[in-house]
Amino acid sequence: MQTSTELRNLLNRIDHKSYPAYKDTKGFYQFPGYVLSIDHVQGDPFASPSKVSVHMKGGIAGFPKELYCGKCQKTALQDYLTRQFHRAVEQYAFKAKGSGKSGLISVSRCGQEVLERTACQMDAKSGDIVLRMEIGFPANGRTINARELEKILFDFLPDCVEQSLYYKTCNKKKVRSVIDLAEDQEYIRKQLEVQGLTAFVANGSILPRESGISARPMKGAVAFQSPKEMEVTMELPHKGTLAGMGIRKGITLIVGGGYHGKSTLLKALELGVYDHIAGDGREYVITDASAVKIRAEDGRSIKKTDISMFINDLPNGKETRGFYTEDASGSTSQAANVIEGMEAGAKALLIDEDTSATNFMIRDELMQRVIHRDMEPITPFIDRIRELYENYGISTVIVAGSSGAYFHIADTIVQMDKYVPKEITAFAKKEAESFPALSGLEEPAKKPVFARCPGQNKAYRGNDRIKMKTMGREAVQINRENIDLRYVEQLTDSEQVTALGYCVRYAEKHFFGGRTTIQGVVKKLEEKIMQDGLAGLCESQSNVAGLAMPREQEIFACLNRYRGLAL
Ligand code: ADP
Ligand code: MG
Repeated sequence: MQTSTELRNLLNRIDHKSYPAYKDTKGFYQFPGYVLSIDHVQGDPFASPSKVSVHMKGGIAGFPKELYCGKCQKTALQDYLTRQFHRAVEQYAFKAKGSGKSGLISVSRCGQEVLERTACQMDAKSGDIVLRMEIGFPANGRTINARELEKILFDFLPDCVEQSLYYKTCNKKKVRSVIDLAEDQEYIRKQLEVQGLTAFVANGSILPRESGISARPMKGAVAFQSPKEMEVTMELPHKGTLAGMGIRKGITLIVGGGYHGKSTLLKALELGVYDHIAGDGREYVITDASAVKIRAEDGRSIKKTDISMFINDLPNGKETRGFYTEDASGSTSQAANVIEGMEAGAKALLIDEDTSATNFMIRDELMQRVIHRDMEPITPFIDRIRELYENYGISTVIVAGSSGAYFHIADTIVQMDKYVPKEITAFAKKEAESFPALSGLEEPAKKPVFARCPGQNKAYRGNDRIKMKTMGREAVQINRENIDLRYVEQLTDSEQVTALGYCVRYAEKHFFGGRTTIQGVVKKLEEKIMQDGLAGLCESQSNVAGLAMPREQEIFACLNRYRGLAL
């Protein structure tokens, strides 16, 4: 450990030298109140910026233990501190000048969801804080401008730390309310199980978003109001009594005219697996944390997935107990998505007719008469939906606008009427009586087998230089292999995508190639993350700043879409 004066002297010595001399700054420096760590220094002013972290002792930060002692409290406080630090840092971005990325100061940008991130980590016991950021070390051309870096490290950064990391300077009421909300959300999540629910949507929630490219709440939207028949109440530890729509376990059908708000409700349920910040409008929309959105995904690869529950006797004779394709159809992709969701432990499936393959969902009566069952490889979802619930405990929430086929089989039917939900189960069932039920009496399917053990790719054997690149929310490239995650709709942040890339890379290096199944690999990854944090997957300091925790279900989804998976 060096003193900050030593860092200042070092900066004086390397000023005006050529850029690589910055490399000497790597190390730890004691500043008043915290240790500054220069973890990784960029190679030139245009390269990805340097990684710097601030380490502060819990006793100095001064946050009371009850604000971070539990998992939900800790995640919420870390998220809050990251947002505060982000706000502070924004005032100083590019105030120091120079070429390329000179003067950049950035920390993860948090969206509407509260996620565990490497950007800010607190120790649940000591309250010690690590805050990670990126700084563009300033230069003129490729000549070091150490004066400007001195400004950043000795003026700007201490001010940002002062503004955001001390309990004594923060808005105590606000911090308390953030933790209160997290505790209320956790309470609702636990209540789902107690009350036999798949999801809860509080009255007064604002579900629609401002626009297709903004996750902020729509202004002037119709606030959510539960139908009386479905209303449940909860006694939250802080907010007190809260009423809302309880979606019971089993089969729930959401119907209604076009543009009446069906997909918006489903979308809110999809993201209800995460906690949302105050003011989002969906902070009390809470869904079973294992729920998985299921959709058609033409073109994806499928590796040895047992889709025989839905697909059998293909005309080309292809095996469906372990189905392979590099270019799935709508129905096979959706079947694989269901099975892989089961493999990932989903207790609820969320399906929108808009994004489903029709032939996977239903087969109408006329079609059944013309094309006999024996000629059709697909057992549609409607014939398995009850079995999924009865035999596997998997509930389904399904949005349908054009087909009434699911009326017969649903436990609860909700109609969205001008954005207001109505409970219409009895009425719809009565109407359905005069129509034949489409779903035939099916033999239960054989239990899907999940015994896939990926082999290791040669490229990863003893290789430490595996390149990775995140393409926003859409994809991650690893060793030039693109993993397309566009249709994994419950990913909400590009930092989760980056983390998934690291998961695959880590699994390739450490877990593939033995007798470990995909389920085993995910379990091992989770244990690793539990022990060493997300940063533990990185194996070098150069990229730990920007990772956010994906759910277990998305780790499965990513592995399953990895075309390099050797199965
Ligand atoms: P559907 O799936 O029933 O066709 P959508 O959920 O796509 O309908 O909603 C149609 C439009 O209505 C969207 O532009 C959406 O933002 C808007 N919308 C949804 N819910 C509300 C609401 N509660 N208040 C105001 N507008 C809403
Ligand atoms: Mg829709």
